[in-house]
Amino acid sequence: MALSCNPGLIIADEPTTALDVTIQAQILDLLRDLKNKINASIMLITHDLGVVAEMADYVVVMYAGRIVEQGTADEIFNKPKHPYTIGLMKSKPVLNGAVERLYSIPGNVPNPINLPPHCYFKNRCEKCMEICNGAYPELISVTPTHKVSCYLHKKSAITIEKIGGEK
Ligand code: SF4
Repeated sequence: MALSCNPGLIIADEPTTALDVTIQAQILDLLRDLKNKINASIMLITHDLGVVAEMADYVVVMYAGRIVEQGTADEIFNKPKHPYTIGLMKSKPVLNGAVERLYSIPGNVPNPINLPPHCYFKNRCEKCMEICNGAYPELISVTPTHKVSCYLHKKSAITIEKIGGEK
């Protein structure tokens, strides 16, 4: 029914949650076929990094309701910048990579009705610095397609701006 008006954008919110891998693959194939048939884009909302890796061209990572990083799938999976994204990548199982226990990011997400004035990831961040006690970090560009909201990368963003300004 949702596709009957040939939408330009399909929003699929956790479309494969609680499905076994065979059905999951069928649903993803179906979404891809539909998208190509009606020439639409898909906004896929998911916690499953495997689904993201298989489906996405561009990835937006959110933490506690805010965008902390965004970039092409290649940038997010191969060159993650935000400590939260790096933690997510470390926590996924790797084929042939035998481990006793999968990595998990320590601590908890802040209470959404009482969010802190600083970086929301600060209390769980292994890279936390003095400056992280300041205002919530702005989203800054580290490449033309890659943005991150973290003080660790403020310097590289300034360098890019300078290079851009010198052209
Ligand atoms: S701004 Fe600071 S606390 Fe927040 S993710 Fe970056 S390094 Fe960690």
